[in-house]
Amino acid sequence: MTQRGPASSAIPLILLQKGRSSRLRAGHPWVFSNEIEMTLEAKALLPGSLVRLQDAGAEPLGLAYFNPHSLIAARVLSRESERQIDVSFIVERLNKALALRDTLFDRPFYRLIHAEADGLPGIVIDRFDDALSIQANTAGAESLRPLLLEALESVLSPNLVVWDGSSPVRRLEGLEPCFDIPKGQLEGPLEIEENGAVYFAAPGEGQKTGWFFDQRPNRALAARLGKDRRVLDLYSYAGGFGVLAAVRGASSVLCADRSATALDLARKAAERNGVAAKMDFEKAEAFDYLEKAAARGEKFGLVVADPPAFVKSKKDLAQGAKGYRKLAKLAQALVEPGGFLVLASCSHHMTPEIFLKESVQGFGRRQGRILHQGGAGPDHPVHPLLPESAYLKALFFQLD
Ligand code: SAH
Repeated sequence: MTQRGPASSAIPLILLQKGRSSRLRAGHPWVFSNEIEMTLEAKALLPGSLVRLQDAGAEPLGLAYFNPHSLIAARVLSRESERQIDVSFIVERLNKALALRDTLFDRPFYRLIHAEADGLPGIVIDRFDDALSIQANTAGAESLRPLLLEALESVLSPNLVVWDGSSPVRRLEGLEPCFDIPKGQLEGPLEIEENGAVYFAAPGEGQKTGWFFDQRPNRALAARLGKDRRVLDLYSYAGGFGVLAAVRGASSVLCADRSATALDLARKAAERNGVAAKMDFEKAEAFDYLEKAAARGEKFGLVVADPPAFVKSKKDLAQGAKGYRKLAKLAQALVEPGGFLVLASCSHHMTPEIFLKESVQGFGRRQGRILHQGGAGPDHPVHPLLPESAYLKALFFQLD
C-alpha cells in the first residue's frame, strides 16, 4: 500500500516573524529558530514533524519538516503548500537525481542524493550498484524513513539498504546514533568501481557511508601526476588515491593510515586490480610517519594527504588551521624537487582561502606553483544558496 500524507489543513502551521521571510522567498531552504513565532504549540511539535510555513501576512510559503530543538528549525521540502508529501513525491526527487547521475557516470557507483541540493534535506544516499548506504542526519530525515524506503524500493529495488545514523551532526538535532539494515544483509565489504579501478567499501565501519565518492575527480588528477613516480597516499583509508595511482602507472605506492581495517580494504583493492606487487601498506600515525620518514631522508614524486576534518566546529578554526599548516610543512619535506603535493581538507568551517594560505605558509621558503584547486565531484551538487556546504577542498601543487 502506498503511504499518503495528511490533508494539508491537518498539517500544523509555523509562522515566520514579520520581515523574516525574504531569504526563504529568495529560495533559501532553511528557516532558523529565531525567525519563527516559537509558540507553545510549535515547541510541542515532535522533532521531524511536517509543517506548513506562512509569513506574517498569512501568505503560504511551502512545506517543511520542523525541529523545535534545532537551530535550523525548518527545512523546506516543497514550495507548494498543497503538495502531498508521499511516496510519489520522494520518487520524483529520486528520479531527478538518478537522471543527473546517469548523465554523469557510466557505472552505478556514486552519491545518489546529496541532501538539500537534491531536494531531500538532511538525507545523503551513496549507491554501490544494488546496495544503498543512507545517512539520515536530521529528525525530518528520520521521519521520512518509511516513505524513503518505499520510494527507493520502487525506483531501484536494491538488494541491500544500510541506514546509518552514526554521524555526529545528528546531535544538533537531538538524535541518538543508530545503525541498522532495513533490507538485505551486509556480508563483508561492497565492491565498487570508480575511475576504472575496483575498490572495497565498508559501510558501518565509521567512515561515513563507507566510501568517499567526493574525491573521484581529484583521485584521477592525482593519479596522472603520480605516473612513473613513487607515491605516498597518507590517510589512505581504503586506497582511493593510492590504488588508482598504482593502476595508472605509479612506480610504487605506499598507503599509510592509522586504521588496520582501512588498510585491509586498500590491500584487497590492490590485489583485485593486480597492483599489489608495487604497493605497500603501513599502519601509522600520520604526523609521526612524516617526521620519521623525513629523518630517514625519504622522497616521493607525489604525496597525497587527505586527513579527516581538523576543524569540527567554528571554535576549532584557529587550532585546525595550525594543523593544516603543520601537515603541509611535514608533507612537503618528503616531496622530491619537481614533485607534486596534493592537500585536502573536508572541514566545512575551513574556507578555501584560509586553507590555501595555511598550506603555502607551511612550505616556508620553498617555491612552487598551484596546479589546481579542486572540490567534490558533480555527484555532490551544492544548493546555490548554501555555498558553505561545498566542504571539500583539494589543492594540487608542484614544488621546486
Ligand atoms: N583519502 C581517503 C579518505 C581519507 S578519510 C580516500 O580517498 O578515500 C581519513 C582517514 O584518515 C581514515 O581512514 C582514518 O583512519 C585516517 N586517520 C585519521 N587520523 C589519522 C592519523 N592521525 N594518522 C593516520 N591516519 C589517520
